Amino acid sequence: MNWTNDTCPISIEPAQEDISGIEDVVEFVCPTCGRFRITGTALAMILHRDSDAREFALAQAKMRAEAGEIPTIDSSML
Ligand SMILES: [Zn+2]
Repeated sequence: MNWTNDTCPISIEPAQEDISGIEDVVEFVCPTCGRFRITGTALAMILHRDSDAREFALAQAKMRAEAGEIPTIDSSML
């Protein structure tokens, strides 16, 4: 893990980002959104979406995650 200070791509507030890079996925820990991962493709796309679409993507990732699994947002959720 290689944590840095960044901005949550969902709620646009200060969050921690792990940039150690598991393939093309980054992980965020946000005070509002919790812990989640997002693919590089989805991250580039989500910045152009409105807040409803961003929160919906996170909600889908959380629904698909198995218990104990970190939700991952991919481009199909956007
Ligand atoms: Zn957030």
